[in-house]
Amino acid sequence: MSTRGLAAVFHEVGRPLELRTSDLPELDTGEALVKITCATVCGSDVHTMRGARPVGGPTVLGHEIVGCIAALPDTGPDVCDVNGKSLAVGDRVTWAVGASCGECRLCRQGIPQKCDALFKYGHETVTRSLFSGGFAEFCHLQRGTAIIHVPDTVPDVVACPASCATATVAAAVRVASGCQAKSVLIQGAGMLGLTAAAMARAQGATEVIVSDVSKSRLQRCVDFGASRTVHVGDDPQRLATVVDEMTASRGVDVIFEMSGAVAAIEQSPALLGIGGQLVLVGSVFPTRAAQLSPEMLVRKLIRIEGVHNYTPVDLTMAMDFLSTDGNRFPFQTLVDMEFALPDINQALGIIFDQTPIRAACRVR
Ligand SMILES: [Zn+2]
Ligand SMILES: [Zn+2]
Repeated sequence: MSTRGLAAVFHEVGRPLELRTSDLPELDTGEALVKITCATVCGSDVHTMRGARPVGGPTVLGHEIVGCIAALPDTGPDVCDVNGKSLAVGDRVTWAVGASCGECRLCRQGIPQKCDALFKYGHETVTRSLFSGGFAEFCHLQRGTAIIHVPDTVPDVVACPASCATATVAAAVRVASGCQAKSVLIQGAGMLGLTAAAMARAQGATEVIVSDVSKSRLQRCVDFGASRTVHVGDDPQRLATVVDEMTASRGVDVIFEMSGAVAAIEQSPALLGIGGQLVLVGSVFPTRAAQLSPEMLVRKLIRIEGVHNYTPVDLTMAMDFLSTDGNRFPFQTLVDMEFALPDINQALGIIFDQTPIRAACRVR
């Protein structure tokens, strides 16, 4: 095996990524080295490179990654996947965006994604190993990373977002206790919204309504399981009318709020039925405060929950979903651009200009 690998290093906003070859790391107990085959460019990577999300360089961005185990520690116990199965060189895997300690108060409470010592792939200033993100030939997996096998039937470009959008949606669906026999409204038709529509449909939701301010984004929703799409551009009442029609005026059982738009959040309690649940996922940027009627929340017995990132259980559910039902929906078409790692700077220029849904960096 080679002893050095290539990485595209992010230093600061406005400066091209530096293509640098570096020594591969020595592995400690519980760690693994992965030879990356594919990494998709997430919206948050673009935000970082444009300065909207402060990340201190040098770092290697990219957190939606698939690859094969290239090396494991020479000594110590076996390194295992989330299901306790020992990993071997050559195994095709993906892994959670964060590695957690397993010992702090939050890890013990079952919230490892908020671990006091959380390490996030593709997000952190390089300290120990350069190979900490997806836009590189290798990734150095830290101890405490939830690693999952990728079945052969799931192509790289479909498996990459498992550790970002798919697992986040799985967490939202878990918080809502599933979608079976429920009417579901999804606000926001981006990667999260499309994934939520497909998962709700696969679980047997009675209605899957998707709303968005963009007509073009709504076009794909029917292919991803939506029973109705609603363009909420100029008339906010249109959504209320559709929900009334589709639920015999009872209101929907669950709303997955993926847009982060305050107006959408403010409208939500009125769209929910008695005992309804509002799951907030998209609000990952600062906004003005939302105005909600406490009386309506009380009288309708509405629950509101926030979901940010996910637990290993959600990653397992995400991969199960992609391997069982992924082929029913055109996830593969969501990656509409591909490039090779050495061409990443030219590719980023196109991504900034033309904003493809997902671009994939192929590493061979
Ligand atoms: Zn992502
Ligand atoms: Zn912890």
